[in-house]
Parts: sequence; structure tokens; C-alpha cells
Amino acid sequence: MARVNSLTVVRAVVAVLVAAAFVTALATGPIAIPLVVALLGAATYVPLKLRSSFSSEPDGPAKPDAISRRTAMKRLGLGGAAAAVPLAGLPVLAGQLPAAAEEEPAVGPSGRVRQWGMLIDLRRCDGCQSQGTAPQCTVACIEGHLVPEPMEWIEVYERELEGGGSQFLPTPCQQCQSPPCVNVCPVGATFSNPEGIVLIDQDRCIGCRMCMAACPYDRRFFNWGEPPVPPESILADYSIEHQVGAPMGTVMKCDFCPDMARAGTLPMCVSACPNDAIYYGDLEEDIATNGHDVVAFTEFMADNNSFRQKEDLGTQPRVHYIPGHGELVGRDKDVTGRFPTTWPWLERVKGSVTWSR
Ligand code: SF4
Ligand code: SF4
Ligand code: SF4
Repeated sequence: MARVNSLTVVRAVVAVLVAAAFVTALATGPIAIPLVVALLGAATYVPLKLRSSFSSEPDGPAKPDAISRRTAMKRLGLGGAAAAVPLAGLPVLAGQLPAAAEEEPAVGPSGRVRQWGMLIDLRRCDGCQSQGTAPQCTVACIEGHLVPEPMEWIEVYERELEGGGSQFLPTPCQQCQSPPCVNVCPVGATFSNPEGIVLIDQDRCIGCRMCMAACPYDRRFFNWGEPPVPPESILADYSIEHQVGAPMGTVMKCDFCPDMARAGTLPMCVSACPNDAIYYGDLEEDIATNGHDVVAFTEFMADNNSFRQKEDLGTQPRVHYIPGHGELVGRDKDVTGRFPTTWPWLERVKGSVTWSR
């Protein structure tokens, strides 16, 4: 049986309002004009308001503007829509479908969908002590994404070593394959895309922060204030894959730069590391690069006793680490401390003037 959706009900209400307005005008003459105007105004305003509330129609698109854009793209012959993405999480509130990826997933030479992963060689990370700067991976990510202060989507922790000294531990979102954050979101605003990346649909996030409580890596951040919106991003299509202009009251985090990867560009944190400590690549093709060296993921990890953070939790992170304390970059582990993080875009009044994602 055909399903009556909420927008249909709204349209019926509008029709009744308009009919009532005309009948009243005919029956009572000119004195009813203000009433007619008010009814017509309501008839126009109410559905516009309600339409956004019904953006998650069970039998409709996950996000109306995304669907219309996809439809437009198709008609222009510029590309197609990605198929609906299965969600790793639990069912969401009644009547709501989970958010889904907007772009076609990247496919490798073997024809398989790419599965992005990261490998951080801690032997090469000195927290940018040698540069005399804040960690460049953190700063580049902040600059490239206009990350609101005080968020650090990739945060470089300093942890004490047994026997003295310290090591640095760059920590982006671990891109868990069994992500607790996704499992608790009540509105399906966060999801795993086909390439294995956990994303957040800012249009759908209600800011309940349950995902933040669930993340064992403390990798989600709440937008307490109005985030920066660079003028040149105003005309950009909304995309779940970049969070520029995310509204106040939503949650943000490292998105693993899937749009850049698909375009053949390394994430900003990878390119910015002066010590080439961060590798990014495709687990499916078993290949990764730091921009200079190319390695086989599995062999490089096996040869160097890689580990994952909080492996015992069963979250299955896509971020792997090679242990060490900076020896490949000649760091003295007993020289502790790193420079504080900076938010370069804060110095510009209206945000970045080079935003291009
Ligand atoms: S990963 Fe690279 S850029 Fe980041 S703190 Fe370590 S050395 Fe610096
Ligand atoms: S690190 Fe946290 S935010 Fe990222 S996927 Fe895992 S649980 Fe989710
Ligand atoms: S992968 Fe992208 S979003 Fe994540 S820390 Fe690196 S630059 Fe930032």
C-alpha cells in the first residue's frame, strides 16, 4: 500500500487553508481581506518551515538539498549519486534513515573500493621540536579545515616512557571500523562511508553529544561558538566530506580528508609533517605513502611491530602506529615539551582567503 508521507499531509493542510481563505473572502467581503492575507501567509510559511523538519522522510531523500544537487548533477551529465550506504550503527529514531555519503567511492586499480588507512611512525615524530614550532600536522589540519579554536582534530600528545623521557603520539580520529560513536547517535547523523571513514552530517547533527561521550579516544569536539565561514566557501555546495561552515551546536572531528584522497592528494597533516612520519594509503591495495616513501601497509606494519591505540576495546581503528620515541629523527627523548598549538586563520578577520576544498 502506498505510504502517505509527512510532506503530503502538509500540502493537504495548505490546500485547505487557501480554500478557506477564498471562501471567507467571498462570504464576508472587503473586511475579510486582512484575514485572507494572514491565511495565505501562513499557507506559504508553514510548509517552508516544516519542510526542513521533514528532511529525513522515510520514503524520501536523506537530505533534500543533497538529493536535488545529485539529481541536477545527473541531468547535467556531471556525475551520479552514490548508492545508499549501509550504516554500521543501530537503528535510529523512528522514521529516520541514516545519513549517507554523497560521492561515488574511490575505486582502486583492482576495481575494489578503496579502504583508507593511516600509519604513523612514532620513530619519526619529534612533536616538531626540531622545527621549533607547534606540531605542523595539527596546524595544517586546522588551517586547511578552518578548525574552530580550541579543537585539534589531530592532537599530538606527549606521553611518558617507562624508564624516563617521553614520546609524541599524533592522534587523529582513529576511524574505527566498529565505531562506538556511530552506534549511539540517535539521529543517524554519523556513519561509516564505503571507504571506511566515519563522517558526520552537520545538517543532521542535533548536538546531543552522545557520540562524544562514546568515543574512547576523545576525538570529537563540540561547536560551542559560531565557526568561521570564509566568504569564498559561501558558494560551495554543502558536503558531508568537508565541515567548513558547520553550524554552531554540532559535533566535528577529523574526516580523514576523503575528497582530497579521491582527488589524489594526501591529507594536509601528512603533507605538512617535516619528518615524513605519517603514511596514508589504501588498505585494500596494501599501499601507503608519506609523500616520499611508498610502503606495503601489511609488510611495513609486520616488520615494525605496529600497534593500534586501545586495541583491547575492539573498536578496530584504521590508524596504526609504529612504536618508538623519535630515534629516526635524532630526537633526545629526555628533551620534553612541545610548542603550543596555533590557529593561524584566527589572524584573518573573516577566515581563510585561500579556502579551496
Ligand atoms: S607527526 Fe610530524 S608534524 Fe606531527 S608532530 Fe610529529 S613530527 Fe611534527
Ligand atoms: S576515534 Fe572516536 S570519533 Fe573516531 S571513529 Fe573511533 S569512536 Fe568514532
Ligand atoms: S586526515 Fe585530514 S582531517 Fe584528519 S587530521 Fe589529517 S588533515 Fe586533519
